[in-house]
Amino acid sequence: MAMFDWQHCYQPLLDELSGRGLDRWCQVLAKQLKRRFEDNPHGDITRWMAALDQLPDLAAPHASLDTSAVTLSTDLPLTDAQGEQLEAGLRGLMPWRKGPFEFFGTHIDTEWRSDWKWDRVAPYLADLTGRRILDVGCGSGYHCWRMLGDGAGRVIGIDPGLLFLFQFLSVKNYLPEAPVDLLPIRMEDLPTGQETFDTTFSMGVLYHRRSPLDHLLELKDTLRRGGELVLETLVVDGPEGYSLMPEDRYGQMRNVWFLPSCDTLLRWLDRTGFRNARVVDITDTTVEEQRQTDWMRFNSLESFLDPHDHQKTIEGYPGPKRATVIAEKP
Ligand code: SAH
Repeated sequence: MAMFDWQHCYQPLLDELSGRGLDRWCQVLAKQLKRRFEDNPHGDITRWMAALDQLPDLAAPHASLDTSAVTLSTDLPLTDAQGEQLEAGLRGLMPWRKGPFEFFGTHIDTEWRSDWKWDRVAPYLADLTGRRILDVGCGSGYHCWRMLGDGAGRVIGIDPGLLFLFQFLSVKNYLPEAPVDLLPIRMEDLPTGQETFDTTFSMGVLYHRRSPLDHLLELKDTLRRGGELVLETLVVDGPEGYSLMPEDRYGQMRNVWFLPSCDTLLRWLDRTGFRNARVVDITDTTVEEQRQTDWMRFNSLESFLDPHDHQKTIEGYPGPKRATVIAEKP
């Protein structure tokens, strides 16, 4: 597969943004990408580029994006050499956290069953057909592909994690025409005042933000009037007004700031100017949904919970429970 070249990779998107009159974003983004890939490259980037490069070129790949694993296939079976290149390339992009994916018969069992989250969220969404979608903190882009599978017109995922970008590209390189891109930037890096997306997702990000209300305002700023916010985050039981701020780590995670009760979260959405905010799902995260696999060999949720009581984290906080809230921008 051709060596990764960031300009070649992002030029079509940059052209599209300026074609839509989003020139300011286009200019800011070009500078951010240059900084990320040229001025200050990640230490592992050469290794990940080499892994991507190992993936075999295959004739006419196609995708199934409405099944639990995001699945790539071809009509011809892979040769032994192609199978070996595929395995080596995909192994070189470990650890795989968000998925599952299936590459031409090779199933990538990721740490997270991200498909379970999609199954919880998808039934409540406004019809995605033709919509322009932003997925903030998209990880490997697993949900971006599922959004496309549900008819989205354009999906842009953003996530600062560069390994996630290379995992995303391992799919995208087989589907170069797909209107899905992943940008290695943070929410805070998006220029303000865009108000261009029909739906904006923020799943698993709010509790990583020191300033959750600013995160909600930033999300609102990405949406057009009448656009839909889909927010998924860790919550705790408790009355309106209550939120938990861990002393240090939560379930061994660093950078966890606010875990609100559902009623507190609804109040935050109300105060930041969303309307019709409603909780559509509340689910405990189990060791079946987040676990160690052959493609993610580090410790996972089981090691982050109290070994005698899975209702508690190892630090003694309430165990992970996630809520999905949907709201509109007036
Ligand atoms: N949305 C996916 C992944 C959640 S993991 C899912 O729900 O399964 C949280 C992700 O948020 C991580 O990949 C992390 O890199 C990203 N993230 C953390 N802070 C962020 C920020 N400020 N802006 C954008 N993404 C962020």
